[in-house]
Amino acid sequence: MAGEGAFERLYAPWRFDYVSSAEQNVGCIFCAAATGGEETLTLVKGERAFALLNRFPYTSGHAMVAPLAHAGDFATLDSDTLAELMELARRVVQALEKVYHPHGFNVGFNLGEAAGAGIAEHLHLHIVPRWRGDTSFMTVNAGVRVMPEELAQTWAKLRAALGVPRA
Ligand SMILES: [Zn+2]
Repeated sequence: MAGEGAFERLYAPWRFDYVSSAEQNVGCIFCAAATGGEETLTLVKGERAFALLNRFPYTSGHAMVAPLAHAGDFATLDSDTLAELMELARRVVQALEKVYHPHGFNVGFNLGEAAGAGIAEHLHLHIVPRWRGDTSFMTVNAGVRVMPEELAQTWAKLRAALGVPRA
């Protein structure tokens, strides 16, 4: 049965982080991804922010944008980092539009553990492509992770769309 939690998952997926407890034990995954490549699903890095794929995607192409520095407080984030974060988010949305042609997006922050942040100490913005009808599909599969495409394929497609040269 779909409870309130499941309902929120359908309509506000950015409120839910999908981070395994195993990964939390090896330190901050965002700090690891800030210096990583394909193994951490890092898509593109800027001067102050970077983008990566969510390892436990809500839908195909579920990406995240985060500051390169280990910073968790949105309220005191410096303007330069904020500007680059949002610019990068726009680039990721453009790339996702090009590759997946979604009907819409959920874009949002979970600020703090109480708000659903899996890793509250490192700020990250969720970018979740949405398609008409994807909620009804997921209702049927409530609690089951939907993975229509391999993460490696998604990573390669988005890297190309973002114009990142091959390593
Ligand atoms: Zn971190």
